[in-house]
Amino acid sequence: MLVVQKYGGSSVATLERIRHCAARCLATAAQGHRLVVVVSAMAGETNRLIALANALVQPGDAPQASRGPYVAPAKRTPEHERELDQLVATGEGQSAALLAMAIQDAGGRALSLVGAQLGLLTDRSHGRARILGIDAARMQRELDDGAIVVCAGFQGTDDRGDVTTLGRGGSDTSAVALAAALRADVCEILTDVDGVYTTDPRVVPTARKIDRLSFEEMLELAGQGAKVLQIRSVELAMRHGVCLHVRTSFDDRPGTMIVPEEPQMESVQVSGVALERNEGKITLTGVPDVPGVVATIFRIMAELGIVVDMIIQNTGAGGRTDVTFTVPEAELDRAAAALAGQTMGGEVPSLSTDREICKISIVGLGMRTHAGVAAKAFALLAAESINVQMVSTSEIKISVVVHERYGELALRVLHDGFGLGVAP
Ligand code: ADP
Ligand code: ASP
Ligand code: MG
Repeated sequence: MLVVQKYGGSSVATLERIRHCAARCLATAAQGHRLVVVVSAMAGETNRLIALANALVQPGDAPQASRGPYVAPAKRTPEHERELDQLVATGEGQSAALLAMAIQDAGGRALSLVGAQLGLLTDRSHGRARILGIDAARMQRELDDGAIVVCAGFQGTDDRGDVTTLGRGGSDTSAVALAAALRADVCEILTDVDGVYTTDPRVVPTARKIDRLSFEEMLELAGQGAKVLQIRSVELAMRHGVCLHVRTSFDDRPGTMIVPEEPQMESVQVSGVALERNEGKITLTGVPDVPGVVATIFRIMAELGIVVDMIIQNTGAGGRTDVTFTVPEAELDRAAAALAGQTMGGEVPSLSTDREICKISIVGLGMRTHAGVAAKAFALLAAESINVQMVSTSEIKISVVVHERYGELALRVLHDGFGLGVAP
């Protein structure tokens, strides 16, 4: 078999952990498998590097350790973004070299590949680059030579040969992309939890491990804040039929298999619940209720490359209406600055922002066939006097925005209310 194993930041957080990963790699190779390993930076390293850059560009700014796309300074320029990628990609380079050395020290054959050596071609969007293609020739050669190939995750190079990165959590996507290109039999995501849970087990202690989960549900959960997998890795795995196994690097227990939908999966109303804290809300009031105004707002957002999530437009009254939408919290100031003072339909609407919000989403294939899931969710929230500010739905998901103060409570109430928990 050809196996791709991805070790996340906490799995390579210390030299002792790196030695442990090396032993696991050797055990996999000893079973006769060809092995490609993808590593993240040591836990905290990416945040440390970003904070260094921020402190340099904006002295006095408190270093932020968020998991947004990038908590880059407002003053960023395209040149800065290029250098930021050069900088943060070194985190994965360190752990790749260290793991390769640890495998060699334990008697195995290994070599690390970083940056252009990986053959992973991306577009030029620094900080959120998309993979365009993979030239796996070098990797194949090394595998044929009997080596364990240790790849630095999170990075690729563009057509100019410049280093790009794939967005926070991007090593998951590196691993799936390599698994697809090499036609690996399985892509194992080795992390600090023993699988995908019904919700983040660090926030809700009653969360339960899921044995099998559909790509569609994982896609929604990852997109709604379950950071156990980067959403793009799930998209890629689904598109290329990569068999994904999320499991712990700490022991040999099987974890969660992410698989194509199976018939019995629809019998479960809700499979998981996710909390997204890093969202911010913008409200424009007194917007003239004429065609083209909403188009103007979202054209401005699109030009800035800001992804808009939920959108609400109220019924107009007296020729005016209100528009509320959410964006990643890290982009809130940029979005608000671009809209403030803009003339829309001949007038300048007033604008307010709110970063004290969060989004809770419930996800399940069963929502397609079960009525009353939304009614039950709202009743559960109402029973705790939690006010719902915004709602959006898809075929297999319901998301609500609530005050940040109630985020964890809402998560617990919905999780346990839909019977997902186990007794603590
Ligand atoms: P890695 O460093 O291995 O990439 P991450 O920190 O990115 O690990 O992802 C693992 C973390 O994801 C877990 O420690 C857990 O707190 C969090 N998490 C959020 N939602 C879930 C979920 N539904 N199931 C499992 N883990 C989750
Ligand atoms: N080190 C990067 C991050 O912290 C990529 C990853 O861990 O997947 O986001
Ligand atoms: Mg991760």
